[in-house]
Parts: sequence; structure tokens; C-alpha cells
Amino acid sequence: MSNKIESHLVEDRVFKPSKEFSAKARISSLSQYKKLWQESVDKPNVFWAREAKELSWRQTWTKVLDWKAPDAKWFVGGKLNVCENCVDRHAAGPRRNKAAIIFEGEPGDKRVITYGQLQREVSQFANVLLAKGVKAKDRVLVYMPMIPEAAVAMLACARIGAVHSVVFGGFSSDSIVDRLEDSGATHVVTADGGWRRGKIVPLKDNVDEALERYKGIKSVVVFKRTGQDIQMKSGRDTWWHDDISKVSAKHEAKAFDSEHPLFILYTSGSTGKPKGILHTSGGYLTGAYTTCKYVFDMRDEDVYWCTADVGWITGHSYIVYGPLAMGVTQVMYEGAPNQPDFGRFWQMVEEYGVTIFYTAPTAIRAFIKAGDHFPAKHDLSSLRLLGSVGEPINPEAWMWYHEKIGGGRCPIVDTWWQTETGAIMITPLPGCTPLKPGTATLPFFGVDAAILDEEGHECKPNEGGRLVIRKPWPSMTRTIYGDKGRYKKTYWSDYKGMYTAGDGARRDKQGNFWIVGRLDDVLNVSGHRLGTAEVESALVGHPAVAESAVVGRPDDLKGQAVVAFVTLKEGIEGTPALQKELREHVGKVIGAIAKPDDLHFAPALPKTRSGKIMRRLLKELVATGNVTGNTTTLEDFNVIATLQKNLGSG
Ligand code: ATP
Ligand code: MG
Repeated sequence: MSNKIESHLVEDRVFKPSKEFSAKARISSLSQYKKLWQESVDKPNVFWAREAKELSWRQTWTKVLDWKAPDAKWFVGGKLNVCENCVDRHAAGPRRNKAAIIFEGEPGDKRVITYGQLQREVSQFANVLLAKGVKAKDRVLVYMPMIPEAAVAMLACARIGAVHSVVFGGFSSDSIVDRLEDSGATHVVTADGGWRRGKIVPLKDNVDEALERYKGIKSVVVFKRTGQDIQMKSGRDTWWHDDISKVSAKHEAKAFDSEHPLFILYTSGSTGKPKGILHTSGGYLTGAYTTCKYVFDMRDEDVYWCTADVGWITGHSYIVYGPLAMGVTQVMYEGAPNQPDFGRFWQMVEEYGVTIFYTAPTAIRAFIKAGDHFPAKHDLSSLRLLGSVGEPINPEAWMWYHEKIGGGRCPIVDTWWQTETGAIMITPLPGCTPLKPGTATLPFFGVDAAILDEEGHECKPNEGGRLVIRKPWPSMTRTIYGDKGRYKKTYWSDYKGMYTAGDGARRDKQGNFWIVGRLDDVLNVSGHRLGTAEVESALVGHPAVAESAVVGRPDDLKGQAVVAFVTLKEGIEGTPALQKELREHVGKVIGAIAKPDDLHFAPALPKTRSGKIMRRLLKELVATGNVTGNTTTLEDFNVIATLQKNLGSG
């Protein structure tokens, strides 16, 4: 029996970049892409040295790459200051008074921070950290709302060589304790609270609770954002505004080794316990910078907006390090997309004239569910490029994004990458790649991606297998913090010298990569291995469906039966007739083999706090009626409780 993942969903809509877009783009033809890609994998030293030279280095490297799988050193002997690259070099030139961050708080407060101001604020905060005794390589836990000071705190750490570990503001005190213990952090930067859906998220209270259990913290700096009463423990806690008033706004950035650790970030936990991914300086910054340049085609006149939180890798690479290294102007928003209603993002796009917009499929599906009238009310004509990241984007969601947000004119870059990869790995380049809804298309420069079967042979076109990267790249993670063994086992043990991503994928005849789902989630129905993405996309392709998650349930006859959970669009009722219709629909689009045996309507699907569907919990639920797996990254336990109740009574 074949162990390949089968593929049945065919997508033939193709969207070529417009002549106007291509004419101005950095890479404007497929042949130009192919030539440069070939050079980048054949001679990575040449390609990456040329890119890295666009950054400012205090000391040039003596060797581009030192590689002994799975250990990579990039730009060996090079020295730089990451923060200087993101801030000072712009502040010292014509971008001094250019807006770096246009901030909007959820309640509607607005602030513009120029590169010059950012330099003063970062320098001041670096001096604060130094005064607290923070030293190079010390770990600083950053637990902040989505406000400019989150970026300031991260950049200040980078400036003095301290290692930040940002914890998403939506995480509880339990998650903080786990991350404090794992990273051995000695200092915390937080805020009294942040605004989310009109309510205060009690950040400082959560920190206090965590610090009752973790005793290794010497100082907590608290930014005043929401203004409610909080506890300040004397000798440990201080206010940000008091601290900065006591220090100079000048700080001379020192150079650090290219391999100096920059940050630890815990993965989303979609498949299990989060891993502390360690990234270092020179290679990471080069990766973030180069992808911003080619994938987002960033220009000095762009207004860029990435809606991620700085607590995720997308926020690290595509809010803080990449865009700031490019010197672009960006919008930053604190709150929820539906506050006060689902028009908030589109109102902001119109107000600030956003040109590049980067969001996640979960948000797009929420917008589709809410209705087209929200974006229709706003002038979105400033947009020229759209991006998607985090999960496979269902083709129908892609089409909606393309038409309703992009006005049919904006290319969409569907970017596949991971916390571990540090930067975008598989992606269209907007000026040259023919787009098909649902595929992340082609590998980025320097990325030698392939799909292998279990024996290590490369799969034929349209045969599904395991996605691997066969060569090192600059922004790759260097280790799981404190656990080299787990690092080797998780990523480097399937095939010799190759990185396994943990995702299933296939390539079509044009070489496009289609992510078919996580390997852990692959279904095995009567000996046929099916990825989850295609079945889910078939369901989302039905006009009544907003979102869906598909998992396997143990079945004596088939091995696994297909179980689908479906969320309907606003105003549509889940009837037995619709249930039947949806099953037939999957049968028609994909084939009888994928027809859901059970189909449940669900008010909501269980997701990570970054908005990704957590199939492992659904899988456990349908197999045992219970959920015992790690739920620390689950956004809302009520979702599981409701499903459990419905399944029990249904
Ligand atoms: P954990 O590793 O802890 O289970 P996670 O994999 O969700 O969590 P991230 O690093 O945030 O943590 O997510 C990377 C994963 O997200 C990828 O491996 C892939 O499964 C999915 N992903 C990201 N972007 C895309 C995309 N454009 N298309 C398809 N899948 C994507
Ligand atoms: Mg992962």
C-alpha cells in the first residue's frame, strides 16, 4: 500500500500579475526569478553575501556559512547591532522624520512615531534595562499589548544584546510561568493592561500571579496603558515613565557577533507543547530584510500593515525586524478586528492609505462570515499588494480576499513559513509569479524545498509527501532553547542533513507547492492518506460554509472515518438537509473517499490564540469524547466544552 498522501482537489484558476505591477517590481519575470533562485541555491555564499551587504555591519564576516548539519553559522566573524539596522541608520539619514509607526489603539487613540523618535525611545529604554542590571544574553520576558512600546522593548533588548522572549498578551499566567521557567528569564517588561474587544486585558495581574510561582525575576517594568489600579511590588516593579525620566536618550549601540542570540519565541502549539525557538542576529535579520524587499516589494512610499501580534513570529519578522530594517512606514493596531465592528480594518486602510496588507486566513474567514457590506463601505483603492500567512488559505477565501479587498487588482502573496524558519520560505513574488488560489507557489531565494516520501525519494508531481528543506538558510532556527536533543529529533532526524517541516505537501506540474495539512493530522481512510486542507477547502467552497475542520475518527472498517466540523455563515441554519448537501458536495468536488461520515455544525472551532485550527483536540474529542491534551495555547476552552456537549447529546 502506498504511503503517499493523495490529492483530489483541482484548482485551475490562474492570476498573472498585471503589467503595471510587474513593470515596477524588483523581480518582474519568471525567468528572472528562476535565474536568481538557481544562483541562490547553487552559490548561497554569493547570493546571501550580496543581500547581507545591504545591512550595516561593524565588521564584515570572514565566511558566509559554516555548515555541519544541523548546526549552521551564518556570516561567521561578522559583527552588527540589529537595533542599529532597524532604527539608527534611518534616523541618521533622510528618514529621520519619516513615520516609522502609525499607531492606533483600540479605543481610537492615535500616535505617529518617526524614526528619529524611535531612536530616542529605544535608546532611553536600553539605558533603563542597563540600569536594571540587564546584561548581554540575559533573557527578558516581554508581555505587552500591541502598542509601539512592545517594539521599543524588543529593540532595546536587541540593542544591548539581551535576548527577548515575547509572550502574546492573550496568554494566561500559566503560560507565562512555563516560558519563564523554560527560558530562565530574569527581567520582565509589561503593561498594566491592554485593550481587547472593549475590555482591559489584565497583563500586570497575570504577571503578578506568575511571579508568585517563578522566583527568578529581578525587575518588572510596567508601561501605563489602561490606567486601572494595579499592585506594584516595591523593590521589583517600576513604572516605565518614571524609569525613562531618569536616564539619557542617548545610547551608543555596541556591535555583537552575527551568531549572538537575538530572541527565543515559543511556537503556536497547534500540534503539542510549544517549543522555545532560538534565533540569532545576522542571518535572521538578513532573512527578514530580504523577504520584505522581494516578497512585499516594499518601497519608501509604501504604507505597510501586518495585522499579526508581536507575540508571534509574524510580528517579530514582519512588524519589528523586517519592515524597520527596510525603513518603511507601517500601521500598528492594538485591538480586535471587530471592534466596534468588522469594518475596523477597512476603515483604517482607507484612513491611512495602506498599500500593503498582510493578514491570516482565520481573519479572512471571519470577515467572510460577517458579510461583504463591511469592506464595501470603504475606499480600499490605496491597496496594491495583499498577503496571507498562518494556515493554508482555502481557495474560496482567497477569491474573496482577491475580489472584495484587493478589488481584483492586487496580487496575493500566500506565504508559507514557520517560527522555526524565521522568514518566509515558499511564496509568490508579486511581480512575476502566476497565482493560483490555495498554493503558496514557489520557494523563495536560497530555499531548496522538496517533497519526499517515507523512503526519502522525491515525490512525482501531485503526489503528496513530507515537506523538507534540503539546504541551510540564514534565518533558520539554531536550536530549541536548552534542548538540542529535541531540536535534532524534531527537525533533523527524518532524512539525513535535511530539515523536516512537519507539514504535508504536494507540487503541481508547474512546481507550485500546495500544503495539504500537518503530517500529524493526515487522515487514513481505507488505506488512502488524505490531507485535511483539501476536504476543508471543499467544504469552505460551499456558499453556506464559513469555516471547517476535518479530522479522522477510529473506524473498524475503514481505519479512519472522516469527521467534519462546519461553521456556517451569518444567518444560515444547520439543518439535516444541509448536512446531506454538504456531504454530497465534498463527494462531488473531491470524491466519495473524502465524503464526511459525520458532519457536525459548530458555532466555533477550537483555535490557538494565533487563530489556527487545533485539529488534535477535535481528533481526541471524536475518538474518546474527551480532551486531555495540552490546551495551554487554546484560545477559548468554551468552544471545546460546547462541542463536547453537542456531541454527547447528538
Ligand atoms: P506548533 O509547531 O507548536 O504545533 P505551529 O506550527 O502552529 O505550532 P507556527 O510556527 O506559528 O506554529 O506555524 C507554522 C505552521 O503554520 C506551518 O508549519 C504550517 O502548518 C502553517 N502555515 C503557515 N503559513 C502557511 C501557509 N501560507 N500555508 C499553509 N500553511 C501555513
Ligand atoms: Mg509548527
